[in-house]
Amino acid sequence: MDPATLRDVYEDLHRHPELSFHEHRTAGIAAAWLREHGYEVTEGLGGTGVAGVLRRGDGPAVWLRADMDALPVAEETGLPYASTVDGVSHACGHDMHVTWLMGAAAGLAAAGDWRGTVVAVFQPAEELARGAQAMVDDGLTDRVPRPVVVLGQHVAPLPAGSIALTPGPMWAASDSLRVTVHGRGGHGSRPETTVDPVVIAAATVLRLQTIVSREVSTAETAVVSVGAIQAGTKHNIIPDTATLLLNVRTYDPGVRDRVLAAIRRIVSAEAAAAGATREPAVVLEESTPTLVNDVAAAERTRPALESVAGPGRVVDPGPLPSSEDVQVLATAAGAPITYWLVGGADPAHYAGATTVGQFLEVAAVLPSNHSPHYAPVPEPTIGAGVAALSAAAREWLG
Ligand SMILES: [Zn+2]
Ligand SMILES: [Zn+2]
Repeated sequence: MDPATLRDVYEDLHRHPELSFHEHRTAGIAAAWLREHGYEVTEGLGGTGVAGVLRRGDGPAVWLRADMDALPVAEETGLPYASTVDGVSHACGHDMHVTWLMGAAAGLAAAGDWRGTVVAVFQPAEELARGAQAMVDDGLTDRVPRPVVVLGQHVAPLPAGSIALTPGPMWAASDSLRVTVHGRGGHGSRPETTVDPVVIAAATVLRLQTIVSREVSTAETAVVSVGAIQAGTKHNIIPDTATLLLNVRTYDPGVRDRVLAAIRRIVSAEAAAAGATREPAVVLEESTPTLVNDVAAAERTRPALESVAGPGRVVDPGPLPSSEDVQVLATAAGAPITYWLVGGADPAHYAGATTVGQFLEVAAVLPSNHSPHYAPVPEPTIGAGVAALSAAAREWLG
């Protein structure tokens, strides 16, 4: 594979980001590439998903997964190949994931030293946490061979070419909730004739902060964040309703259930305390399960990753609060998952950092995924991700 070709692919994808479930151009590029390299291709899986199958004799099937969607973030990187789409950019780096998988798919097709089946899965709408489920609902597991493992990787602000692999729970479950508080609107000069949903919402936001601080033990972990609070139109009108948008992160299903129950209890009780006559609505809008790296599969894959990243360049940062829906694919396929991070940050930022703790300290001040300034360095990141995915796939193929 000519590295210049993949560099062109990456810059082209970066210039033309597409939002979740609208990845038509990206999917078309991936599908055409797979066909060109001898893969049998299914398009339109779960909307814009693409699966490519390359069979080579008897042997295990391996799924390699990349997500394709961009974010509603206006890019501010100033790169010569910056997004040409207003208000949309690849701020999470999924263009890098697509490039990696295209490179690995082509490399495996060109190599003659393996047996089995490579399945390249290009997934839509990871950012909505719905794309993996959409592909499963569209029959992915029946339309391509079932795998012995699902492999995937995400670009991260770690030194370019380094790898982070955490066996066991790696990324958190994420739940997004919409809470609608119903008061009774009226004139701002006569609050006594109203039930003010702005005050209920304010009290609710403060009380929600006690869930993690007062109801989750020191041995457990959870995050409850109120990302949006919306109510009213004018200074002197008390509105009828207020809306809160919440995000919850947990690792343990029991903790998750307790936190979600506590949210419902507090929302309901604050409304009752204010004299609201209508129960607030709590709607779970998005939900992603915990990403749990199968420990045995991670340990089997690690030496392959080390062989390409170099000695001491595969680190274990422990569980992180990010979320991913790739677990949905593995669960549906009944296969273990191994998912890792590939560093994409300019190594110059990491001069002198050698331990995981120092890596994370530097990473904390660099633009992160979802920032308008997030920009992986194309090299060595492209080559590193292609090499990591290819080496991991070979470990599992016959
Ligand atoms: Zn993202
Ligand atoms: Zn992402």
